[in-house]
Amino acid sequence: MLHRVQPSQTNASTKESIRREAQALGFGGVGFARADESPHAGRLRAWLEAGRHGTMHWIARDPGRRSDPRAVLSGARTVISVTVPYYRGDWPSEPNGAVAERSPHAPSRGRIARYAWGRDYHKRIRRRLRLLAKAIASVCPEARWLAYVDTGPVLDRSWAERAGVGWIGKNTNVIVQGKGSWFFLGELLTDLELDPDPPARNHCGTCARCIAACPTGAILGPYELDARRCISYLTIEHRGAIPLELRPSIGTRIFGCDDCQEVCPWNRFAVPTSDPDFAERPDQQTPELIPLLRLDEESFRTRYRGTAILRAKRSGFVRNVAVALGNLRDRRSVGPLTRTLNRDPDPLVRGHAAWALGRIGGTASRAALQEAATHESSEEVLVEIRSALESCEGAGATHRIEGDPEP
Ligand code: SF4
Ligand code: SF4
Repeated sequence: MLHRVQPSQTNASTKESIRREAQALGFGGVGFARADESPHAGRLRAWLEAGRHGTMHWIARDPGRRSDPRAVLSGARTVISVTVPYYRGDWPSEPNGAVAERSPHAPSRGRIARYAWGRDYHKRIRRRLRLLAKAIASVCPEARWLAYVDTGPVLDRSWAERAGVGWIGKNTNVIVQGKGSWFFLGELLTDLELDPDPPARNHCGTCARCIAACPTGAILGPYELDARRCISYLTIEHRGAIPLELRPSIGTRIFGCDDCQEVCPWNRFAVPTSDPDFAERPDQQTPELIPLLRLDEESFRTRYRGTAILRAKRSGFVRNVAVALGNLRDRRSVGPLTRTLNRDPDPLVRGHAAWALGRIGGTASRAALQEAATHESSEEVLVEIRSALESCEGAGATHRIEGDPEP
């Protein structure tokens, strides 16, 4: 049952009613912040100036607007920050087993970040935020509001911290005290004036586990993330070739990366959610890799309809699959990778298939690369083939998985 906001309520009890309403809608946490310039505005500008956003050009568009909700909703007075838990418990199992124990018949599997195990969260959280806004508007019909989930020009983490929901950890994720960081964030911007909550206090202390655990060194120091090195960015947002020097560290992560959160001691307190909106879909945690090489546009859209994985687009996703297979160095993937090298319509995918063959090495890989070089027309792929042929010499087929976390 929803607890309706009453017109006669005081500011404190209005906030309490909104909290109860939010709880009934499945929000794990709610906080209130004054809508003015974010204290992280300067940091955002410096981060953009250093180019650490990579090719996420939309973040660089109008940073002033992004840093101040009043530029998004004129007359905005309050940011209501909410969290929705998505932790679903342990991974099904270590996808590829320990190196020494790996059965030659076990399929090669990739890893998908926890937040993408189920259906896409954007629509679901936005719908809940709209219901929350309607409940407020039913008694304050003159109140204006805008709902954001991840995609709008809003610094969601900064507002979560300021609204007391959780602090921004050294890994740059929001951590809720006693609950961890496996949360989606959302915001309701409104011109309703509500007393701000005290900002969250930082409890990272002397810990630096996330910095040490990052496979690519993307966390340059406390609170300093270079997205261009981050596996989440490289496997989801980045549209082109993955830098050669970072490919080995990607291990078998084919969509996102959780390492800096997995090691965070605060996530020991995470409690699995039973929210059906975020239940994992079959085969969406550690899918078998080789069949994914054959995904065409249509089968990719069909398989991942309604999930966040569509964000990577087919070419980016299959590119990631090729990288993971190269890192697994499983000789059974030489044939499927050769087919991808010869037949995939996208040069980006063909180029990464060539890289994977070079990393696996051996006679069959070398022959496939030499043969492809005779008919490949894309200069971009030819460069990859030449480089793969060079590395073929040094590669040996083992099941070593660089960059993967210990089982
Ligand atoms: S998501 Fe992975 S690659 Fe990115 S900062 Fe965290 S540990 Fe590093
Ligand atoms: S791992 Fe340690 S330093 Fe990193 S976010 Fe968690 S508590 Fe903070």
